[in-house]
Amino acid sequence: MPAQRDQLEVDVLIVGGGPAGLAAAIKLRQLAKERGKDDLAVMLIDKGGDIGSHGISGAVVDPKGLDELIPDWRETAPVEAPVGKDELWYLSSGGAKYAVPAFAMPPMMKNAGKFVSSLQKLTKWLGGIAEENGADVFAAFPGQELLWDGDRVIGVRVGDKGVDHAGNPKANYEPGPDLLAKVVILSEGVRGTLAKQAIGKLGLDEGRDPQVYAVGIKELWQCAPGKVDPGSVIHTMGHPLPNETFGGGFIYGMQNDVLDIGLVTGLDYMDPTTDPHDNFQKYKQHPAIAKMIEGGKLLRYGAKAIPEGGFFAMPRPYADGLLLTGDSGGFLNGMRLKGIHLAIKSGIMAAETAFDAIVADKADAEELSKFQTAFENSWAYDEMRMARNFHQGFKGGLFAGMMNAGMAVYTGGRGFGVIDHLHGEAGYAQMKKLSERAPRASESRANIDNVMTFDKLTDVFNSGTMHDEDQVPHLHVADTSICADRCTVEYGNPCQYFCPAKVYEPLFNKTGENGSTKVDGRLQINFSNCVHCKTCDIMDPYQIITWVPPQGGEGPVYTGM
Ligand code: SF4
Repeated sequence: MPAQRDQLEVDVLIVGGGPAGLAAAIKLRQLAKERGKDDLAVMLIDKGGDIGSHGISGAVVDPKGLDELIPDWRETAPVEAPVGKDELWYLSSGGAKYAVPAFAMPPMMKNAGKFVSSLQKLTKWLGGIAEENGADVFAAFPGQELLWDGDRVIGVRVGDKGVDHAGNPKANYEPGPDLLAKVVILSEGVRGTLAKQAIGKLGLDEGRDPQVYAVGIKELWQCAPGKVDPGSVIHTMGHPLPNETFGGGFIYGMQNDVLDIGLVTGLDYMDPTTDPHDNFQKYKQHPAIAKMIEGGKLLRYGAKAIPEGGFFAMPRPYADGLLLTGDSGGFLNGMRLKGIHLAIKSGIMAAETAFDAIVADKADAEELSKFQTAFENSWAYDEMRMARNFHQGFKGGLFAGMMNAGMAVYTGGRGFGVIDHLHGEAGYAQMKKLSERAPRASESRANIDNVMTFDKLTDVFNSGTMHDEDQVPHLHVADTSICADRCTVEYGNPCQYFCPAKVYEPLFNKTGENGSTKVDGRLQINFSNCVHCKTCDIMDPYQIITWVPPQGGEGPVYTGM
């Protein structure tokens, strides 16, 4: 392909227009103005059609990060409401609801002083501030591959536009530019494509626990007037997740009678037929939830993976020319169900480190390791340390996990048994083969009524997702013969269940004679449905699926999410 690529050089290149990346861009430009270096060139690129269009989160925002970045944020930030009602429920599979009394509410679940927000609106607002401060912000620019000089990151290649399904240039072909920078800050969100490349090549996760993930499925509902209390926060445990599966639900009250409702399923479940989208449909059918959305209308749907591994699963966040922030660096507190404030703080610290490195004209790993030192001296470190054993404590089920989290509060983060470090294991490796235990999830799927519960394709429509179908698919399955020859028999092709957008359709036939199984057919990949949640890259039991960004400006449109 004739690739006459433009080349652009900046001081700092930030990949990802989420809270971490935007905080980094804003802080860098603030420092440039304060310290007489107004010529500092800061560029931020994002794969979404607009800044914020791929932004999805619960979200109840701890204002700590915003307070540091934009002290007067309360005057203009588009938050929905300060948290008012704050409850924790246990939902039984029989339909009962048990509210935890206020005096027994775990301290990490209390949300007084926080704000119910839409991450899409918040990041769109932050994008405007980054631009006002002089950063160049480009949406529809997907970071496709890191550019290297040996082991030093020197820039990012942006994905091409206008390439057909066979890899040939179309009439609208536009090669993506090579963006060169003294420091590249990766803030791509969870399981970032470039972060994965860097972590793999440089071994940034050596000596760390494997990252563990969950996937959140969320909908916005327009409810009857007066039915939604803006700022109300309810978290739930129990139904529909079996005791062995990590996760829980959330229901947040937004303005204009909009309810934000979602369910998180841990991506370290054992049953290969577990379907997080189906779990969410069952969640809405619980009487306590159903009565809240009865008579309402589905507005928006989305899904996103969440890095849950915590402190011990954070990769080394620096290398020559490189910093990792936000979800890309594992800055998320699973115990408090919060990451936005940590993402912002990581962006601030990365900006301070990168600024000093550029002034010193020395952006090597030694200089950039000051990011790690800044983290270790910050409140973010104390918070991550306190939550360090949270997710791992749920290996023995919900009750054990809650006991472990409770113990952590009184033991400075040590878990049950006062253990300093509960070692985590990769989530996909927890999945059992069909021969090891009978799958249960597939036996009782939610009934779809198209009123309260919806199938995956209807939900994809409500995510606003769009991809040009005539492009090279952005989901790379390294060896599809494994899907046919092994996965069909061993796990029953779990991709058809864990993908919340019906991207993977195994069209295999199994026939058997004399105890042997013969499989023919193919795996159909409906890549244009993809809502960019990254679950397949994470949960595939053979680790042969690689998610890369499609051409720029495509994917979901998460308005209000
Ligand atoms: Fe998520 Fe992968 Fe499905 Fe896309 S294809 S929606 S990234 S699981």
